Amino acid sequence: MESFDAALAPQLDAIRGAGLYRNLRHIESACGAYVQFGARTLLNFASNDYLGLASHPALKEAAIKAVEQFGAGSGASRLMSGSIAPHRELEEALAAFKGTEAALSFSSGYAAAIGAICALLGNSDVIVLDKLMHACVIDAAKLSGAEIRVFKHNDLNDLEAILKWADARRTEAATGKSRILIVTESVFSMDGDCAPLREIVELKERYGAWLMVDEAHATGVFGPTGAGLVEELGLRGRVEIQLVTLGKALGAAGGAICGSRSLIDLLINRARSFIYSTAPVPAAAAAAAAAVQLVQSETGAKLREMLHQNIRFFRTHLGGAYVELKSPIVPYRTGAETAASALSAKLLERGFFVPAVRYPTVPRGKARLRISLTAAHAPDHLEGLARALKQVSAEHPAGVAPQS
Ligand SMILES: *Cc1c(COP(=O)(O)O)cnc(C)c1O
Repeated sequence: MESFDAALAPQLDAIRGAGLYRNLRHIESACGAYVQFGARTLLNFASNDYLGLASHPALKEAAIKAVEQFGAGSGASRLMSGSIAPHRELEEALAAFKGTEAALSFSSGYAAAIGAICALLGNSDVIVLDKLMHACVIDAAKLSGAEIRVFKHNDLNDLEAILKWADARRTEAATGKSRILIVTESVFSMDGDCAPLREIVELKERYGAWLMVDEAHATGVFGPTGAGLVEELGLRGRVEIQLVTLGKALGAAGGAICGSRSLIDLLINRARSFIYSTAPVPAAAAAAAAAVQLVQSETGAKLREMLHQNIRFFRTHLGGAYVELKSPIVPYRTGAETAASALSAKLLERGFFVPAVRYPTVPRGKARLRISLTAAHAPDHLEGLARALKQVSAEHPAGVAPQS
């Protein structure tokens, strides 16, 4: 075993040497506006629990009831051991929420992406990805065997050029049945900006491509009922595949694909991360279903209003280019990896938990603090962070370049 560990040591040393070493921080509290680090209480700007639902009584109660009725575990995959009520209820709730014919839940958003993309695409197909696409979709694209093309972030001209190429390639006899799938996030996880979804829908219709929208950070946050950016922009019925994560604004855990009945039937038969994986625990499904109801209720609308008020308030306090952005994700760019880590450490000293995001989560030299705002923050929390950010940036020798 010694030689095994010795073989790993240089790899770990290289990660440390590049200033990219990561370790787990142990916290002793539930996810909320505050987190408990040992003896210290810190303001939490690190979670994707945008509406503060992870610790909401309605979700906890639903989870506890599901444990009482269906147990702690789910026994096997759903095709093997049968499908219990919490999963069916979650999927019916998600389909109604998203305005699609059907939905299928997975153990995570990551598994949903892998399952769906690999079920839909093969060697003769083309997958077209935004440059900033989440790792799960990049991995899925590689695994699917499809030809991968990447367009510049949110760049419609670049996307169209690729679609023209893919369409021409398809009209050649040999690949007449080749499929083209565009994948984008509606709200980008590390930059917090939104995709031009209306224009992308028009392009995919013009070139006969399919579209998959990853609504991980828009679900619960955008749209009149909180269903996401697809709903907000009136694009329901024009997006073939929607990816939802249940562990962000929905406060539970898991992922889901929403779309037509035939899409879901195909996934039940072909999505390997669904077929060969134990069903999510009853508690997670029940908590997510409760969250889907809550998000659409008056309480949900109020929480969303509080979140957007906080977003406006914080961005106005930061000023400059920040004012324009509308999502709860605020990238505070430092460029250098070491600067991001140093600022994060200084904020920690002042009582703010704001993670530094570095390669490989973002490209090299594009490190940043990722500030995540929630409905649970109070105005003085936000003012405090804005002030602390200005102080620590001024103190840092390399300075900081806010927004690029
Ligand atoms: C978090 C995330 C996922 C993965 O979802 P999990 O349920 O956490 O596995 C997929 N896409 C994006 C954009 C995400 O931010």
